[in-house]
Amino acid sequence: MPLTFSMNENKLRDQIADIGRTLYTRGLAHGSAGNISVRLDDGFLITPTNTCMGRLAPERISKVSFDGELLSGDRPSKEAFFHLALYEERPQDRAIVHLHSTHSVAVGCLADADPHNVLPPLTAYYVMKVGKLPLVPYYRPGDRTLAAAVRAQAKEHHAMLLANHGPVVSGTSLDGATYAMEELEQTARLYLLLHDHNVRLLTHDQIAELHSAFPS
Ligand SMILES: [Zn+2]
Repeated sequence: MPLTFSMNENKLRDQIADIGRTLYTRGLAHGSAGNISVRLDDGFLITPTNTCMGRLAPERISKVSFDGELLSGDRPSKEAFFHLALYEERPQDRAIVHLHSTHSVAVGCLADADPHNVLPPLTAYYVMKVGKLPLVPYYRPGDRTLAAAVRAQAKEHHAMLLANHGPVVSGTSLDGATYAMEELEQTARLYLLLHDHNVRLLTHDQIAELHSAFPS
């Protein structure tokens, strides 16, 4: 049913452009930083390199095969290789959002961050939508060995923070990945706001209750 796939692909291209625009308008993406991708049956769509998220042309969004080959559209983001690694490790996931959003990047620059879980359980929605957030060590832009580090975390986690770089979140839908990313960014902001305050975190029992009431 190629026609069905094509209509679906067009819809996904529009959805990527819409989400890119809202992220940019709200200051969650700036310049040409960050990228969005969506899995297709024969590859994935990803925002092109050197392109502003706020002004994406749906028909120019790159389509890349699972071998990393450009199938259509403009040249893909230079970070497409770690999207591919995530898709390979997480067959259940259909979309990935990666940003250089200010508060998450700030938290990823803290020298004493716990690399196993960067943010504490401040709110129920953070626990439900993100859960744990491992820190991936710093790699220079374009360093392909980042893919192996992402792959190592992707088996267990759908969200991770690249040190001194930015967050990566995958999900079973583009809306789902975007909502989780927004929750992460806002929680990073809360965490920085609460610095130097005595904070009441959710308890183990409260977290267990959330997991049993809202299994992922
Ligand atoms: Zn990046």
